[in-house]
Amino acid sequence: MSKGGNDRHLRERRLFLTGAVVAGGAVLAPAIVGLSDAAAQHSGGSVGHAEAEGYVVDAATADYCATCTFWGGGRRISTDGRNVTTTGLGWCNNPASPNYQKLTTPDHGPMTGVWRKWEALNRRA
Ligand code: SF4
Repeated sequence: MSKGGNDRHLRERRLFLTGAVVAGGAVLAPAIVGLSDAAAQHSGGSVGHAEAEGYVVDAATADYCATCTFWGGGRRISTDGRNVTTTGLGWCNNPASPNYQKLTTPDHGPMTGVWRKWEALNRRA
């Protein structure tokens, strides 16, 4: 990836983690709700992979790996169905994606056009 591409990715990732995703100048719905209580206690409040129980993502977030049916990372749906907690990297299993067979972070995106909603999110009571 070019330096410009890396900078853009890091900027978007930072915005994603702080709850505001910008695409084409438009601010989209907040994505990461926060760290789980256990994660916040464990990590001392910092955000980082492998040091926390997981990131808590709004289950309604579209176009990002955390809620994509093709994502092969560890995750769970909250009992009320409103959030998804993810634990780190996951494999992309979508042959139509440029990230197929690659590890991605749960906040990778937006993946408009190839993202498909995780079926488990449709099965909530
Ligand atoms: S298709 Fe895109 S959003 Fe879905 S798992 Fe692959 S990289 Fe992530």
